[in-house]
Amino acid sequence: MTLPGSPYLAYKGADLYMDDISLRDLVRQHGSPLYVYSRKAMLAALAPYQRALKGRQHLVCYAVKANSNLAVLQTFAQAGCGFDIVSAGELARVLAAGGDAGKVVFSGVGKTRAEMKLAIETGVRCFNVESTAELEVLSEVAAGLGQRARVSLRVNPDVDAGTHPYISTGLKGNKFGVAHELAVNTYKRAAALPGIEVVGIDCHIGSQITEVSPYLDALDRVLDLVEAIEAGGVRIHHLDLGGGLGITYTDETPPGADELIAQLLAKIDARGHGHRELVFEPGRSLVGNAGVLLTEVMYLKPGEKKNFCIVDAAMNDLMRPALYEAYMGIVNTQQRDDAAQTWDVVGPVCESGDWLGRDRQLSVQAGDVLAVLSAGAYGMTMASNYNTRGRAAELMVDGDQVWVVREREAVADLFKLEKLLPA
Ligand SMILES: *Cc1c(COP(=O)(O)O)cnc(C)c1O
Repeated sequence: MTLPGSPYLAYKGADLYMDDISLRDLVRQHGSPLYVYSRKAMLAALAPYQRALKGRQHLVCYAVKANSNLAVLQTFAQAGCGFDIVSAGELARVLAAGGDAGKVVFSGVGKTRAEMKLAIETGVRCFNVESTAELEVLSEVAAGLGQRARVSLRVNPDVDAGTHPYISTGLKGNKFGVAHELAVNTYKRAAALPGIEVVGIDCHIGSQITEVSPYLDALDRVLDLVEAIEAGGVRIHHLDLGGGLGITYTDETPPGADELIAQLLAKIDARGHGHRELVFEPGRSLVGNAGVLLTEVMYLKPGEKKNFCIVDAAMNDLMRPALYEAYMGIVNTQQRDDAAQTWDVVGPVCESGDWLGRDRQLSVQAGDVLAVLSAGAYGMTMASNYNTRGRAAELMVDGDQVWVVREREAVADLFKLEKLLPA
């Protein structure tokens, strides 16, 4: 069986290993539930981006919201990446992890004035601006600091990325980006504002995209705009084509980053835009299959209609199944010989939406450790304390080395900011 995450995730005999580490052993030592990431797998996922862009002026900006652990950010900073951020909090993380503000692009529809000010003072490379209203506020904030904010407008190319409605962002009905028809005039407006310096154009059409064609369609639409904007006298330096490349959770077959980029470059060159600097903002494709969530089986509850396998991880630890009905692979970290049965893998949280997998064929007993696969992206970053559950610990492995990169949250931490009313 080839697992998503292979070769960094594979059985040796009956036991599941990440790199050279037995995952069951990690739970024995560090408890459950537990996120584990492979540093090698992350760097291996980055390599095809860097290979495909070699010889071009480019910047790969890792999208921090996919997995914002400091050690993850540090890994990408050391590998030369920039970062795509969506809040001042993420900027603070990037700086704490040794990232370079000069390689940060700041995305998001609702940046506050305080966030804008901080980002300008820190020297971020570019704001990806999503509306005229935001542009005007940003100009005011920058001018107030005696500066000009470097800006690219996020344009909405109105293409269907063929992905889940909650993670599709490039259609007319989405809240994201400046509408295609308004883009040329918005650029003219931007160029006239005292606190704005136009440097690029940006689009991001969605997430978990498994085909090349929506990217090519979006690129054509963006290049049409670049030509119209430049004809109107505003210079565009860089093209930011966003993130969104999908990964294999079950039977998806997304293109490799190198194949995707090769096709984009061919179009960029054919249309005479080969001199432009290129920016990409991958998140999921760099970390998704580099991580697993380990969880111990507490109780088996066979029933008339359904068999429930109750584990100690829940929707608060990993929200994707509850939020998007997302499928994530689930395997036993110790392969058993007995016949598999069909189980719904569910957590202890008091919601019927609290499930990690439905109708899964598993050979399992209480006390076993299951691995939820492809959990490196949008796992821990979406975790909450619902049901007053402390968030899981996070580990990073590299070969035979293991580091605790986030301690398990203690119960006392969960309400330390709360106050009783006076007696
Ligand atoms: C979320 C996001 C990304 C990363 O998306 P992935 O699907 O994780 O690659 C990139 N850019 C922007 C603006 C985003 O909101």
